[in-house]
Amino acid sequence: MSTTGRKRVIKEIKVDIKKCTGCRSCELACSAFHAMPRFSSINPSRARIRVFMDEVNDLYVPLRAGGYIQAECNGRNLYVIEGKEYSECIFCPASCPSRRYFKEPDSGLPLKCDMCEDIPPLDAPMCVQACKFEALTYHTREEEINEEEGKYDEIETAYRHLIKKHGKSKVLEMFNRFNGEE
Ligand code: SF4
Ligand code: SF4
Repeated sequence: MSTTGRKRVIKEIKVDIKKCTGCRSCELACSAFHAMPRFSSINPSRARIRVFMDEVNDLYVPLRAGGYIQAECNGRNLYVIEGKEYSECIFCPASCPSRRYFKEPDSGLPLKCDMCEDIPPLDAPMCVQACKFEALTYHTREEEINEEEGKYDEIETAYRHLIKKHGKSKVLEMFNRFNGEE
């Protein structure tokens, strides 16, 4: 596949479950960062990261929210890692009908990790900054953009620029007007 010669930065958060203590500071930091206005409240039920805890068996797994899926899975696998048993759901980032996590408490709308995208960018996402045990670490790497992706990348950049300049509702209004003209 041909590439555009351009690169994009891929942001990753690595999780070391052996280091997680279940302190839940990551949840607090995430919810504060996404409060409206920013840092005006702390409410873990609004966090886009949740720590699955089973204190009896000493299991703590921080999990960031992925996308919403409409159906729950038919199967459930179990994983055994270093003698500890984990259910498949513990590692699944989906917001799904059978899971109470990753949903806005008021509206029920799904929550999704946005890597704390901000302008100017943060040195590291809030959950990583809050984790004093290095269970969460932040890494970036560069990746070549292929031609097809490059087209979407350009559209996305232009779209973000328009939203920043004119606001989301104005941009949506304009798109709706164009749709009506087709
Ligand atoms: S990266 Fe940001 S949005 Fe995602 S879970 Fe961490 S604090 Fe929340
Ligand atoms: S802040 Fe770090 S150690 Fe504490 S619960 Fe979150 S991931 Fe685990």
